[in-house]
Amino acid sequence: MAHEERCHSCDANWTQGAFTADCKECGGGAMEIGCVFCQGECNSVWIRAIDDSHFRRVGHWVQTGPCGAEKGPKPGP
Ligand SMILES: [Zn+2]
Ligand SMILES: [Zn+2]
Repeated sequence: MAHEERCHSCDANWTQGAFTADCKECGGGAMEIGCVFCQGECNSVWIRAIDDSHFRRVGHWVQTGPCGAEKGPKPGP
């Protein structure tokens, strides 16, 4: 069994994709969340900075790629 990462605040098992919606350390996701800039619209994911999240008791996330929705407003209908 691999090492599992858990939230130190609420003990949610991040490795298994669990998180608590109102927990600051979980921060709205488990080991990864949808792009923070556009709420996941661009389909890129951010991964949890585990040590920072534990240390500050607030979810920290690391961007893995550019936000595809960042280029400007979406074309209108
Ligand atoms: Zn938590
Ligand atoms: Zn994005």
